[in-house]
Amino acid sequence: MIDRILVRYGDLTLKGRNKKSFINICLQRIRERVPEGKVKYIKSHNRLYIILNGEDPDAVIRALDTVPGLAGYARVIRCEKSIDSIVAASGKLLNRFKKPRTMKVETKRTDKSFPLTSQEISIKVASLVLSHHENLSADVHHPDITLNVEVRKDDAYVYVDFTQGLRGFPVGTMGKGITLLSGGIDSPVAAYLAMVKGIETDLLHFESTPLTSIESSQKVIDLAKKLSAYGIKRSIRLHMVPFVELHQTLLEMVPEPYHITIMRRMMMRIAERFAEQDHTPVLINGESIGQVASQTLDSMKVAEAVTSLPVLRPLAVMEKNDISAIARKIGTYKISVRPFEDCCAIYVPSSPVTHPRNYYAERYERLFDYEPLIETAIANIKTLTLSPESDIQLDVAGLTVREALETGE
Ligand code: ATP
Ligand code: MG
Repeated sequence: MIDRILVRYGDLTLKGRNKKSFINICLQRIRERVPEGKVKYIKSHNRLYIILNGEDPDAVIRALDTVPGLAGYARVIRCEKSIDSIVAASGKLLNRFKKPRTMKVETKRTDKSFPLTSQEISIKVASLVLSHHENLSADVHHPDITLNVEVRKDDAYVYVDFTQGLRGFPVGTMGKGITLLSGGIDSPVAAYLAMVKGIETDLLHFESTPLTSIESSQKVIDLAKKLSAYGIKRSIRLHMVPFVELHQTLLEMVPEPYHITIMRRMMMRIAERFAEQDHTPVLINGESIGQVASQTLDSMKVAEAVTSLPVLRPLAVMEKNDISAIARKIGTYKISVRPFEDCCAIYVPSSPVTHPRNYYAERYERLFDYEPLIETAIANIKTLTLSPESDIQLDVAGLTVREALETGE
């Protein structure tokens, strides 16, 4: 039966002299999910073989689905290098296709002493396989299924197609970022896309309990748990910033159309200072141009004016439907659509400014002394290190997140 998984690395094979270290980190990320013990790892050129030794191939594949940097993987049957064995192994792989499909065979022959050429092997295997499977037919140009045969020095490998991996780069190879995580649909997707590009990201959430409900903070914890599946050692750090005082003060002091603008600038200031303490060079958020009134280019400019760090916006030009499709794939969508709103959604001004200006933002910020509020918020950040299995329930109504976390300690 299936005895190994063949793994192909993605773009990282293009990384020239860094290739070796990229591959090693990728392997490390895989080992964190599928520990060596029963399974064994064999490295070979741009590939990796995971020898299953009886482990469930589907469980291994599910783990690989959370590792950026992989182009794809296939379930492999190893057999004797004879046409009969290859055909028998192919039959086992093809049995699961019950509906009519087209197929072709592709052969690679590293053992040049094998009596048939690659093409001859393909033709022979195809004709025998097709004669045994009446729902399969040949199509060498656009087949539904490609059956791969590799004739090697000591044995042969047979596998059907590749499951596409996440591609991108292994998490951690592109440095660190901090993602501003709300309870919405977008920012978890932004964090995920940054991770797929190799960025190790922490999550920063501004919570305004009891102005907002504790359930909205629970959402953020549950979202972070989903994202942790892709993180280094299947974990992620979520920093909860107590934002309520600053939030309440700005709601009182700032003219309504500028509420969101000033709130964003306060978030940026806190995020920047936190990032500097943490030696993190970039911020990431879930803004998408034009999605809501506050996500105009002018708003982005005015929010970003208070930080010297680059702000990555992986979703800037994406369509909402495409963002939601990714959210569904990574399991965050259902959590994000729970009905509890975070600070941005709950106090939306009736006519937010869509083209804010720095001049006014600065003027309104002079109306109150925000500096000590920022200091206090940063000093009271609570950090949680989460994994997919973490069990944190903030189910104590009426408490702030801080109090709820402390009662659970
Ligand atoms: P999302 O679906 O991510 O909430 P959104 O479309 O609702 O995004 P906004 O509410 O305008 O957009 O927020 C824009 C971005 O600001 C978010 O994607 C997120 O990165 C950040 N953000 C908003 N609220 C918070 C919060 N309470 N804590 C941390 N970051 C936040
Ligand atoms: Mg939101």
